Amino acid sequence: MATLESQKQRKGLSLAKKGELIFSRLSEQWPNAKCELEHNTPFQLLLAVVLSAQTTDKAVNKALTPLFKNQPEFGPADLISLGQLGFFEVIRTIGLAPTKSKNSFALSQQLIALHNGKVPHSREALEALPGVGRKTANVVLNELFGEPTLAIDTHLARLAVRMGLSKNPENRLKIEEDLLACIPQKHLQRAHHYMIFHGRYLCKARQPNCADCSIEQFCPKIGV
Ligand code: SF4
Repeated sequence: MATLESQKQRKGLSLAKKGELIFSRLSEQWPNAKCELEHNTPFQLLLAVVLSAQTTDKAVNKALTPLFKNQPEFGPADLISLGQLGFFEVIRTIGLAPTKSKNSFALSQQLIALHNGKVPHSREALEALPGVGRKTANVVLNELFGEPTLAIDTHLARLAVRMGLSKNPENRLKIEEDLLACIPQKHLQRAHHYMIFHGRYLCKARQPNCADCSIEQFCPKIGV
């Protein structure tokens, strides 16, 4: 539990200082935080991220891992050969499977038609693909191309507000801007991994484990 002293200390911190302290602690708490979507190739990562919208990485891995084990180089041409219905059968356990199989099929066709079957290294080109929005593009730009982007998913949105780093729970673009403004440059490339692990394994939606949290003394616990 926060002491009176730590509450005073927390209130006196600038946002920049708070960001520095929080992300330095998170980087120590989650040194091995990484993308948990299983994949062997850039295309497989893009596909897995598209499928992960409004469901868990675990559910996506359960559906795709057998496919990727059988076909380690599974690519857009393979998905087209499988057909929209065939791919639907593969992912039928995932939420929104009908829409996602349709988008995945169209995405594979566009990758072949416009990008020689490769995942493009450009936000504009990524966001023009079926089923790919800003969040998916941010994951791909970060994971495949090492760019310091933040993909605002349910964990980042919840944590940003709880930690007092954003006052815009309903606006993900604003949350992204708020976080980019306070995360130190040296932590930006890995910051979203730290926050996802923190949200997935400790600061959970229903029962945040504040007693074991490395940033407890700096966190206002808004909404907890
Ligand atoms: S677990 Fe508690 S102290 Fe830690 S970030 Fe979440 S709300 Fe803040």
